Amino acid sequence: MLDYHIHSNFSFDSKAQPREICKAALSLGIEEIGITDHFSFAPYSPNYRYFDPDVYFRVWTKLQEEFAPNLTIRIGIELDEFANFPMESNELVRNYPWDLVIGSTHDLEGGTLRTYLRKYQNQEQTIRAYYKALTSAIEVGAFDVLAHFDLIKRYITDEGEPLMKMNPFDSQIDSLFCLLIEKEIALEVNTSGLQQACRSPFPSYALLERFYSLGGKLITIGSDAHKPADLSREFDLVLPRLQAIGFPGLVRFHQRKKRIQTW
Ligand SMILES: [Zn+2]
Ligand SMILES: [Zn+2]
Repeated sequence: MLDYHIHSNFSFDSKAQPREICKAALSLGIEEIGITDHFSFAPYSPNYRYFDPDVYFRVWTKLQEEFAPNLTIRIGIELDEFANFPMESNELVRNYPWDLVIGSTHDLEGGTLRTYLRKYQNQEQTIRAYYKALTSAIEVGAFDVLAHFDLIKRYITDEGEPLMKMNPFDSQIDSLFCLLIEKEIALEVNTSGLQQACRSPFPSYALLERFYSLGGKLITIGSDAHKPADLSREFDLVLPRLQAIGFPGLVRFHQRKKRIQTW
């Protein structure tokens, strides 16, 4: 088993000690973890230059040695705002020996998705703007995995609206999937959504089926754990569903080179 979306105390929103994460992974029977702490070049973001990549690599490289061969640790990053800071972001990607780079979108117009939704009071506009931001990120970003694809549903559901509201956006979603496939960017299956009000992974199973039917084969799985106890949470539930859809396996990364590990 592997878990490719994990936060430690190198992220502003986690207190998890790096060694505790490794110990938890071992006790849960996870063979490989991808550490993906938040980073952003947007000054308004809480992730703004939050950690020193030199220190990050020093700490995680030491743990790689300490926990080998029982646990493989891949050193990654969850990088925000590729579209607005493409030069800085792509330079950071080039300058360090990342195993995997996750591209994510948490903000619109310099505020959170929730703030945007509250400001405009328009769900359709918010959903469209969110997917437009994803498209811009994919067009310019040198990343390997796209994080929590339909994260926006978390806020739409919070507002008490049914998920079916997502359906009118099918053509925009199809274009996004085609772009991912063309650029060979893996689609992340983020299980943290199952703990949210939307009770569904990001992306939903329906969207994963659509991605597969369009020719998408590259997927990763991540718990988005911010606490050691949340590693690989809900994987038992989600992995069989991914297999049933037809995906050949999960993508593994080493120094940004990918290979599919079959089931
Ligand atoms: Zn995220
Ligand atoms: Zn995350």
